[in-house]
Amino acid sequence: MAAGLLIFFAIRDHITGDNWWQFAALCALAVFQAEVSRKIEQTRRLITNAPHVDMTSVWVFGAAIVLPPSLCGALVIVVYVHLWLRIWRKIGNRPIHRVIFTTTVAGLSTYAAIGVLAVGKLVLEANHWTQPFAYAVVVYVAGVVLLLVNNTLVTVAARLYGQPTHMVVSWADYALEISTLCLGALCGLALLHVPYLVVLVLPPLLVLHRAVLVKQLEDLASLDQKTGLLNATAWHESAKLELSRAARTNDSFGVLMVDLDFFKKVNDTYGHLAGDEVLKGIARLLKGEIRDYDSAGRFGGEEFAVLIPNSTAEQIVTTAERLRRRVTELEIPVQNESGEETVIRGLSASIGVAIYPNSGTTLEQLMLTADSAVYTAKSNGRNQVVTLST
Ligand code: GH3
Ligand code: MG
Ligand code: MG
Repeated sequence: MAAGLLIFFAIRDHITGDNWWQFAALCALAVFQAEVSRKIEQTRRLITNAPHVDMTSVWVFGAAIVLPPSLCGALVIVVYVHLWLRIWRKIGNRPIHRVIFTTTVAGLSTYAAIGVLAVGKLVLEANHWTQPFAYAVVVYVAGVVLLLVNNTLVTVAARLYGQPTHMVVSWADYALEISTLCLGALCGLALLHVPYLVVLVLPPLLVLHRAVLVKQLEDLASLDQKTGLLNATAWHESAKLELSRAARTNDSFGVLMVDLDFFKKVNDTYGHLAGDEVLKGIARLLKGEIRDYDSAGRFGGEEFAVLIPNSTAEQIVTTAERLRRRVTELEIPVQNESGEETVIRGLSASIGVAIYPNSGTTLEQLMLTADSAVYTAKSNGRNQVVTLST
């Protein structure tokens, strides 16, 4: 479909001399920007191979505003072939079909935006709406349509490919995509009116790209890569903060240690990958069941910790009991080692609860108490909540 559109417009478009200059300028800027921030993009790709937003919308949306459709399509191809040759190919974690997919999605969403811009212009002309405001509205709508088409295609593809869609496009990705589209609109308008100003887009774009890398590094340093929960270090940091807050305000808070029962059996029966799916399922459950200001972490293996600030002993135990029950209700679709679809159910967890200040007044005491509570729960037959005080 993308190739068909490109050929159709190549035959039909009337390309002016100015268009060629604008096209050359956009290609040069895109290549220059990608070269300058090559290290940043490489590092981002090494850190995560999840589908994530790149900076190309700036040039592509700018092109949609000024260039005829065939040159926009050509720009998309130039931008992605360059990225592939200079970055993705060298890292080797992005097979060629994904590069073609990314390029095609960029092409189709650009054509959707071009369609909106073309229809918008016709409507403006038909109604003699010459105010800049009316044109601005058309550009806004085109940007929104580009964003929506892009994310819809990525989400549909992920679903067809069997990837969980909640992983595909995060709010941070949306924010980044919106920022690049804003710069893209400014880039297009600069090219239309004062072409020499278009280089002003470069510095904010380079800084934005670096900021995105910093965010990814922060996540890498604080999140458990398998489940997206806090890692042990980050969880301890938030627990320490909560301890000093609770000491100051005479509040109580809870520490839950959650250890899955007989998890080794899951691995032995269904394989390690299925085991990983269970861990991710448990992580989703914990995140979904706790409040925004509670924090859940993974302590490696099949052990999780949950911090429940600012709650009474009764509330903490009720939460632990609810988590325990939810684990037993959990159903996780997986593929077993011979590739057959099956559903893992009947899981359970032993949960140890320690409550500040009754179970301890330092984090070490609280963790030790919660740990021995887990141990007690295991020896009392598992699938239960045990609360200990010192
Ligand atoms: P218990 O009820 O006594 O807790 O039994 P258990 O089998 O859950 O506990 P045990 O500590 O004996 O085994 C934990 C297992 O967790 C062993 C290990 O293979 C598995 N495991 C640890 N980390 C991971 C992981 O990241 N992915 C998978 N799939 N398995 C893991
Ligand atoms: Mg364990
Ligand atoms: Mg266990």
